Amino acid sequence: MSAPRAHLTLVTPIQFVKGVGERRAELLHRIGLHTAGDLLYHVPHRYEDASTIAPINAVQPGMDVTILGRVISKGVLPTRRGLRIFQAVLKDATGMIEVSWPGQPFLDRSIDKGHLLLVSGPCRFYHGRQVQPREYVNFGDEEDGAEQGRVLAVYRATEGITVRQIRGLIETHLDTLVALAEDYLPAPLRDEVSLLPLQEALRLVHRPPTLGDAHRGRNRLAFDELLFMQILQRRANAVARAPRLGITFASQRTLTRQLADALPFELTKAQRKVIREITSDMCSPHRMHRLLQGDVGSGKTIVALFAALLAMENGFQAALMAPTELLAEQHARSIGRMLAPLNVTPVPLWGSQGTVARREAEARLATADPLLAIGTHALVQERTTFGRLGLAIVDEQHRFGVEQRAALGGKGETPDMLLMSATPIPRSLALTVYGDLDVSTIDERPPGRHPVTSAHRPESARDRVLTFVASQLTAGRQAYVVYPVIEESEKVDLKAATTMFAELGAGRLAGFRLALLHGRLPADARDAIMRAFRDGEIDALIATTVIEVGIDVANATVMLIEHPERFGLSQLHQLRGRVGRGAEESFCILLGDVGDEAAERLRIFTSTDDGFEIARADLRLRGMGDLFGKQQSGDAAFRIADPVRDEQLNLDAQRVASALLAKDPTLSRPEHAGLRRTIGHRYSRALELFRVG
Ligand code: ADP
Ligand code: MG
Repeated sequence: MSAPRAHLTLVTPIQFVKGVGERRAELLHRIGLHTAGDLLYHVPHRYEDASTIAPINAVQPGMDVTILGRVISKGVLPTRRGLRIFQAVLKDATGMIEVSWPGQPFLDRSIDKGHLLLVSGPCRFYHGRQVQPREYVNFGDEEDGAEQGRVLAVYRATEGITVRQIRGLIETHLDTLVALAEDYLPAPLRDEVSLLPLQEALRLVHRPPTLGDAHRGRNRLAFDELLFMQILQRRANAVARAPRLGITFASQRTLTRQLADALPFELTKAQRKVIREITSDMCSPHRMHRLLQGDVGSGKTIVALFAALLAMENGFQAALMAPTELLAEQHARSIGRMLAPLNVTPVPLWGSQGTVARREAEARLATADPLLAIGTHALVQERTTFGRLGLAIVDEQHRFGVEQRAALGGKGETPDMLLMSATPIPRSLALTVYGDLDVSTIDERPPGRHPVTSAHRPESARDRVLTFVASQLTAGRQAYVVYPVIEESEKVDLKAATTMFAELGAGRLAGFRLALLHGRLPADARDAIMRAFRDGEIDALIATTVIEVGIDVANATVMLIEHPERFGLSQLHQLRGRVGRGAEESFCILLGDVGDEAAERLRIFTSTDDGFEIARADLRLRGMGDLFGKQQSGDAAFRIADPVRDEQLNLDAQRVASALLAKDPTLSRPEHAGLRRTIGHRYSRALELFRVG
């Protein structure tokens, strides 16, 4: 059953597109193609043209190449070990080369003599030059020269449906589909940012005469996605804010003044700035919903404390929730010390407290007395009630689920919310990522802190590195030795760490007090070890588990990281943040041989101590996927754009979105009808935000 072609629209289910049918539709669904419109927006993820294709005679072992040639012979070879290899010889105007696909004998069915293949992958020496494709595109028996002077579009495909088939489908329907695409951006707006009209852009991404054209087309489509996201987020912010009446605090300057006077240090300029932002937010009638971000060690706690005291001097309660007992305990101690001159004692609440202390704490929270509660998720348990919660603070907010954060907010009438994060995000991205949160950023560290000396050392330097670690321990300092844990192979990792623990104890670090810390230990055992380390009863911690974010042991001066290539840049930076907290010089040493790509990444890490720069590089390298995964409800946020790499486009989109919504907050003007409809089709969230449907 297929719908007549005349009725083809962009929302026609893909199975009714001529040439698809039920079976193929299922395969296409797997790569996110559900409608005819999806097909139109399935833009090539890569292009090849003459400039990127190497002449076959120039290909040498060791090179990573893209070649284009016709199959002149082919066959399946068995190997002695039972693996079957599909091999083909490709020929272009300059020569011939062998291409081999180990373990893919089935390719023999789809690749035939005479087919034109585009192949990319490394060339190695194996009885002669041989390319092992990472990727290939089969252009079938397309004529020779079809590729010449033309840019080849390479589409994402999936098992059971080839690039060539997808390309054929798009090719067949492109003109019809393009004609259906209405340009939802008003022309003046488009001109302002020098964007191509939509139809032209769509045609160019699929059939570009030059790579430059492909790029211009892609930019228009990428801009649109960034614009949609900006519009959605801003609208979400406005909608969330409108009915979000909260507590209107008044700056009494009693407790906050006293704290400022009692501080043993000067607040940094950045701390003063964010305290002002938070204060004015809390003193406004709407409910605060703010993210406080700042690099490790930038001094977020003290900022949160000012907010807590502001709530308390207005007769309200404040609560600070930390992800682990150890952190909660650390906060309770250090905050307790800072508040002692004010005669304020925080009320601690966590699991291992013992029933009596706990009951007592719970009883105090249930009163209407102004106070500061510091605890773990015990704060959000059902039996915990607050008499008058006015401010909820969540430390290391990414360690909590959305529900837990909301649950803390739910412990009061409409308490202001302050979420803290040590993974800073460049300003231009904050709005894109955090949507309906306002963001305050601490972009400076307290003075007088030595930067941590960071270096990457090869395996051959292991002995020297360990000797160095031992010398630090002898001098009375402490060290962390960290192993990565990858969930699937946790056992193996644990074994590696356990073995190393034994080896170190018998070898280079013999005579020192070592402890092994890993994720399989129950939480209380882990906390006990960390406590012993904090109190100087352990010299070196060998850890497979990522050492608690935020833990503060000033005497620890060495962070030794094994298999550094297995960590993300931001993770490495968090680990490095565990040292350099005292007066002594501190060291972060990455140990081990790594590949070129990883070496480059580690070089970025050792060359800067700036968390923002690291976050930016990390985002550039790993993309936004991780950040968005949890935030968007099922809608693919970006298919084409990448807000990190497309920073300038994103800034343009922000500007345009803000101007647009200032004039027409609900996109209800006739000239915005197309835009509104498009966003409604694409993002389910838009339904409630703009009431489209
Ligand atoms: P983070 O932002 O990582 O949570 P903390 O709030 O734990 O950082 O602060 C790190 C350390 O810096 C703490 O020991 C804190 O007392 C100290 N600190 C905070 N602000 C300042 C400042 N303005 N001058 C000097 N030291 C500060
Ligand atoms: Mg902190």
